[in-house]
Amino acid sequence: MAVENQMYQEGVMEIPSWWKCPTGYESLQMAAHELGRNELLERAEISDRNSCYPSESLKAIANAGWGAVTIPIEDGGLGKGITGFAVLAESFAQYCASSTMCWVMHNAAVQTLYSAGTKEQRKRFIPGVLNGEIGALAFSEPATGGHFWNVVSSAPRMGQGYVLNADKSFVTSAGEADWYIVCTSSQDSKNEDKLMFLLVDKNQDGVNYFPYSAMGLRGNSSGPMTFRDVYVPSENRIGTEGGMLYYNDNVIDPLFLLGTSACWIGIAQGALNAALKGAKTKVHADTGSAVTGYQVIRHELAKAQIQIDCARSMLFRVTEEMDRVLASGEELSTCLYPLWELKTLAADMVIGVTNQAMQISGGRGYLTGQIEKFVRDGRAGALMGPTNEILREWIGRTLIEVPWLE
Ligand SMILES: Cc1cc2nc3c(=O)[nH]c(=O)nc-3n(C[C@H](O)[C@H](O)[C@H](O)COP(=O)(O)OP(=O)(O)OC[C@H]3O[C@@H](n4cnc5c(N)ncnc54)[C@H](O)[C@@H]3O)c2cc1C
Repeated sequence: MAVENQMYQEGVMEIPSWWKCPTGYESLQMAAHELGRNELLERAEISDRNSCYPSESLKAIANAGWGAVTIPIEDGGLGKGITGFAVLAESFAQYCASSTMCWVMHNAAVQTLYSAGTKEQRKRFIPGVLNGEIGALAFSEPATGGHFWNVVSSAPRMGQGYVLNADKSFVTSAGEADWYIVCTSSQDSKNEDKLMFLLVDKNQDGVNYFPYSAMGLRGNSSGPMTFRDVYVPSENRIGTEGGMLYYNDNVIDPLFLLGTSACWIGIAQGALNAALKGAKTKVHADTGSAVTGYQVIRHELAKAQIQIDCARSMLFRVTEEMDRVLASGEELSTCLYPLWELKTLAADMVIGVTNQAMQISGGRGYLTGQIEKFVRDGRAGALMGPTNEILREWIGRTLIEVPWLE
């Protein structure tokens, strides 16, 4: 028996490391998993149970030096580019989906500030971010729902600034972030599109946030916010007065679509890992077989892992191109089409795979715990903007060669 076991071990196929991680990012991925195990996992359960914001986990991520991953090293960031961002997000999500999602939105906000902001604004906000301050994006409005690029709110000029009035339906890190990039419109703008980004401090008068209670991502604090007669000095306008649609397509959407896709892939892998562990250790006394001893279960494991690896391959193919595009000074909007496909695939995949993980786990998977949490957390992907319905429409319109956005 011992010899047989030995032979079996010797014949085990080794999965190549490049299949799970882009070459050159292995140590970053290992460090992220270590942080996930030591800092995120235990707190994830508490955050979910009590629906409380994962402040400690986010602090631990910032303390590890990952508060501003895509920002160049010379400006205080990690300089690990888009691929590093995806490696970290995918790894963190295997332990805590809520803190990962807050961190993804935070990085998208920081990159927006960096790309569209002035040198003075970078100096004012980037050091805080490196010390654990959190940024957030307040875009979606109840009036226009998933069409978050069409805001109805506005901020007319007043004195040396603007008076912001806006209702926002979902803001990840609402009430918890230190600052918000609020997407609004400027009717005073001479630009063709009127979109304007205003940076608002959480302590300003007129800033209100409301509780968030949801099926999953329960630590997110993704609740509604209102901004009532909030005075924003022009030094806190990020970019131009109107004309910011460009940054939606070249910074916010690319980072958001990429970061959330990595998150859904990580959730799926986390769920499958947990299911695999349980299936290996649960042994039926009557048959003497572990759950993994049943061929049908092994096939389910294989089908789920193939789905995850398809999505992960697509993720890192897209990040490779995004990093190349950035290095050559081209525009990230050239990557939008693959990003739409990636996000749709990852968000559909996580629903299927987390359910397979539950099925493999039997009734134990249905009990309150890690696997049912992954099922709930992963369900948000298809609903988050651009929703999968909207993305499939844009993909379909592109395939028939008509403009994707009317
Ligand atoms: C957990 C979570 C966190 C979020 N965090 C943030 C955040 O940090 N910042 C932020 O700005 N927003 C955030 N959002 C909002 C999100 O990005 C979407 O904008 C929002 O969820 C869309 O939901 P809605 O209820 O407004 O949907 P609706 O727009 O009312 O959509 C309802 C249904 O209609 C479909 N639909 C809508 N428009 C079309 C169309 N044109 N064609 C075909 N089908 C369509 C949708 O796909 C959906 O099935 C978050 C949402 C969630 C759930």
